[in-house]
Amino acid sequence: MKNYYTIVSKMMKTAILVSIVCASTNLGSKNSLPDLKGYDNYMAEVFQSNPSLYTKMKKLGKTKLGYSIDDVIRTGVQNPSHPFIKTVGATAGDEESYKKFQAFFYPLIRLRHNGFRPGVDKVVSDISPNKIKNGVLDPKYVLTTRVRAGRNFKDYRLPPSIHNDERTRLEASIKNLLIKLGGEHRGSYKGLYEMTEQEHEGYIAEHISFDKPVSPLLVSAGMARHWPSGRGLFFSKSKNFIVWVNEEDHLRIISMQKGADMKKTFKRWAEGVKKIERYAKKSGLSYQYNDHLGYVHSCPSNIGTGLRAGVFLQVPLLSKHTEWKNILSSLRLQARGTGGVDTKFNSKGIFDISNLDRIGFSETELVQLVIDGVRTLISLEKALENGDDISSKISRIEQKN
Ligand code: ADP
Ligand code: MG
Repeated sequence: MKNYYTIVSKMMKTAILVSIVCASTNLGSKNSLPDLKGYDNYMAEVFQSNPSLYTKMKKLGKTKLGYSIDDVIRTGVQNPSHPFIKTVGATAGDEESYKKFQAFFYPLIRLRHNGFRPGVDKVVSDISPNKIKNGVLDPKYVLTTRVRAGRNFKDYRLPPSIHNDERTRLEASIKNLLIKLGGEHRGSYKGLYEMTEQEHEGYIAEHISFDKPVSPLLVSAGMARHWPSGRGLFFSKSKNFIVWVNEEDHLRIISMQKGADMKKTFKRWAEGVKKIERYAKKSGLSYQYNDHLGYVHSCPSNIGTGLRAGVFLQVPLLSKHTEWKNILSSLRLQARGTGGVDTKFNSKGIFDISNLDRIGFSETELVQLVIDGVRTLISLEKALENGDDISSKISRIEQKN
């Protein structure tokens, strides 16, 4: 075990060193932004449409907890594109980052979240599993269902900038409240630093644990610092209710199960979220939340509800159709590889299909959108199985949305 951590820690040190070298060559040396030509992330889009913005943001200095605009955009500058999705290219180091660098973050949020204007458009939150309709999908195509959202605690730095002792202190408070959970949420907590490599790999293979942050996107964002210190995993006996501690957010609350019952998965998630909030309040912890942004997250792609409801969907025929990507974007859905956002699509035509938006819709609406969208995808797959021409159906979907 010691050997494993020595290797990982060496890998991390090298990666972090690379980031620091890149950071000092790429950013801020002459108070000017590098050339972002050919970049394919939202950060670049914001600066391309407003070239004087960087200098203005630079003049603002740092947040009270020490995060600058160069820290905000480091991951986007060092990683011009992603092989599978269009990334944001920016992170927040603390709740204040969004306010201090509002002139950068708000247009970025508007681009990433389908025109949502923070401060103008309403943030909505409604967690009501009973309102869900047609929540049981077709198990021939839907292999698993999953709902997750992030939560972050007030007065603590976010994972891109949190200090090691601060992270460890927070972890202890979180652990104390998680082990109080009862009923079907009752479970146990283990720090990743207490696990053997095999044990951790086993949890990753079961899709219940996060992996070490080796992707350049995460390393550049500062998520790998002090790995695996202060990170941990909580899960119920059935492994259907899981909480990730100090990954990309302080908490990632997850409900998932095999089969096609999204309503049940959402219900377990909703009840778990409520219980955790109650215990957090009792121990004097409150969430980073405001009227402009909803729940504050490290990555602007998650602000609002932070909710990603997804299914592993097997659609080998439809996913080869030339209109596949357009159909997904018309339905406001995103496809990921089944090993997580940084993994390749698998050869059996199985995808992690989830909602693209997190803000401007309530949690309940987003889960319903995924259910309805997945139903549409399944009906198209069935039509292809029958050898039907689906072009008119596709046009109707694209026109409707
Ligand atoms: P997140 O949005 O939770 O950060 P990632 O794409 O980083 O999601 O994936 C995290 C982990 O969750 C991966 O191991 C992935 O395989 C797993 N996962 C995502 N969706 C599902 C699902 N519907 N069923 C089972 N596992 C899933
Ligand atoms: Mg992730």
